[in-house]
Amino acid sequence: MKQIGLLGGTFDPPHLGHLIIAEEVRANLGLDEIWFIPSQEPPHKQKATTDAVDRAEMVRYAISTNEYFKLNPIEIERPGKSFTIDTIRQLRDENPNTDFYFIIGADMVEYLPKWKDIEELTELVKFVGVERQGYKVKSEYPVIKVQIPTIEVSSTAIRERLQNGISVKYQVPEPVETYIKEKDLYE
Ligand code: ATP
Repeated sequence: MKQIGLLGGTFDPPHLGHLIIAEEVRANLGLDEIWFIPSQEPPHKQKATTDAVDRAEMVRYAISTNEYFKLNPIEIERPGKSFTIDTIRQLRDENPNTDFYFIIGADMVEYLPKWKDIEELTELVKFVGVERQGYKVKSEYPVIKVQIPTIEVSSTAIRERLQNGISVKYQVPEPVETYIKEKDLYE
């Protein structure tokens, strides 16, 4: 059986927090690969997001130096809203003999009870929870806890810094910073 970690997100933009949690979970659980899945229209967030093509491109740059990390465009190729359950059903159909580990930050763990078809989802994937500043991994559903060095970086804070002309150096990988500047993404 292949062991695959999944990190779904808006990645608006992808940052060091995403890379660190993905690598820590991969190494801790001995996973074969981590697939980064940028969302099309995030069902749990109401705000407007950067074009999916730009977000996917930034993810591609962010993960380029880690041979275990792959971009999976499944949600951006599917028109409209994708719920995690739809994505997982499709991934399971397309990838037999694979165990999936769905990585989520503690801020998301709190919302698990609200996810569409959560009961079925917990049978199709193993959830892996990582701590995030201000949140603890607490859940009524089974969640594997992986201890990470908590890192207080978020896409929201990075967008705000960029809007205010504050440096984001080392918070996003260098090629992502270059892409953001070239495309004037968060001005
Ligand atoms: P935003 O600030 O726009 O809400 P975000 O920084 O939370 O974005 P997402 O792309 O929404 O980034 O996150 C994808 C996944 O990564 C989520 O499960 C989220 O909890 C987790 N995550 C993001 N940043 C961190 C972090 N610094 N520590 C732990 N988990 C994180």
